[in-house]
Amino acid sequence: MKTLNDLTTSNPRDQLGRNLRDLRVSLTDQCNLRCGYCMPNETFGPDYTFLNKEKILSFVEIRKVVEAFAACGGKKVRLTGGEPLLRPNVEDLVQDLRTVDGIEEIALTTNGLLLRKNAKRLKAAGLDRVTLSLDAIEDETFRKMSGKEIPVEKVIDGIRSAEEAKLAVKVNSVIIKGINDHQVLPLAEYFRGTPHILRFIEYMDVGNCNNWSRDNVYTTKEILADVQSRYQVEPVEANYVGEVARRYRYLDGQGEFGMIGSVSQPFCKDCNRARLSADGILFTCLFASTGKNLREVLRGNGDIRHFLEGIWRSRDDRYSELRSDMKVGKVEMSYIGG
Ligand code: SAM
Ligand code: SF4
Ligand code: SF4
Repeated sequence: MKTLNDLTTSNPRDQLGRNLRDLRVSLTDQCNLRCGYCMPNETFGPDYTFLNKEKILSFVEIRKVVEAFAACGGKKVRLTGGEPLLRPNVEDLVQDLRTVDGIEEIALTTNGLLLRKNAKRLKAAGLDRVTLSLDAIEDETFRKMSGKEIPVEKVIDGIRSAEEAKLAVKVNSVIIKGINDHQVLPLAEYFRGTPHILRFIEYMDVGNCNNWSRDNVYTTKEILADVQSRYQVEPVEANYVGEVARRYRYLDGQGEFGMIGSVSQPFCKDCNRARLSADGILFTCLFASTGKNLREVLRGNGDIRHFLEGIWRSRDDRYSELRSDMKVGKVEMSYIGG
């Protein structure tokens, strides 16, 4: 009987010639924040029904999916959610995934609130990097964006704990016109001269409940103009094909920042990502309305590598390039994994 590791890597290409490289695994659809652009309080209130426990993939099941992903040429795994650190013992999963042949990098995206408790254990288990989300430096704006009465200092402490654990850190800031666009310069100032790369993200039309409108998108052009109003910067070459952030460096040597313009500068042509929800549904686009049920294949002892390969070969997603303002039913980002 062959095991996955006996098989050679297949490197399937999708309908637009893109390889599969990156898998985002959502560990839970729950979160301890209520960012209005992702899980607004009005929808995700006390009566909201989160995923049933029995449906949530165990760490053993996630490993099997990651093995199949690596056998299809996958290199990078990002653990996300919801808030991934709400799931107990994430370090056990990291340690296990580290042993999957072909996986070169394991990263985690988190709001940072539970990082102080976990950073050292995650590093010891083999986590390479963390991306923390922080949308303001000013408490009042942070509260408005995060939907909770939590001070910015709590996230900064999470960043410090990652630094102390020697984890590489990136910081994501979603900018929404009229809500936190006045925080572009304070955020840039705060992270300039630190080893942590700040990436500004355009507000995206993910899900159905954030009332997104194109008018609320603070574009990368506007963000760049804000930074340039105080600092001289120049563009930097991408690190690799498919890097979504456009990089800029400060001419005074104080490091760099990035911008992710999913709305104004779509990057579908190099998109090499798949997403696995916490209940084992596979999505090949962040803006998909349906996914493929990998959990059933897993639990029915089916051939997940074959299933995954077939899904990837038939993929032709390029939502951001075709984006229209039409309201279509899309899955929520907290479910699909950001
Ligand atoms: N809870 C973790 C966190 O916030 O980092 C991980 C999950 S969160 C869904 C992943 C990333 O998606 C965060 O950086 C968040 O800012 C981003 N995000 C969520 N909704 C978004 C939206 N509508 N537009 C742009 N980015 C969004
Ligand atoms: Fe939670 Fe992250 Fe969504 Fe904010 S962006 S509500 S922290 S999952
Ligand atoms: Fe990839 Fe879909 Fe985003 Fe395009 S819109 S970059 S295909 S996830």
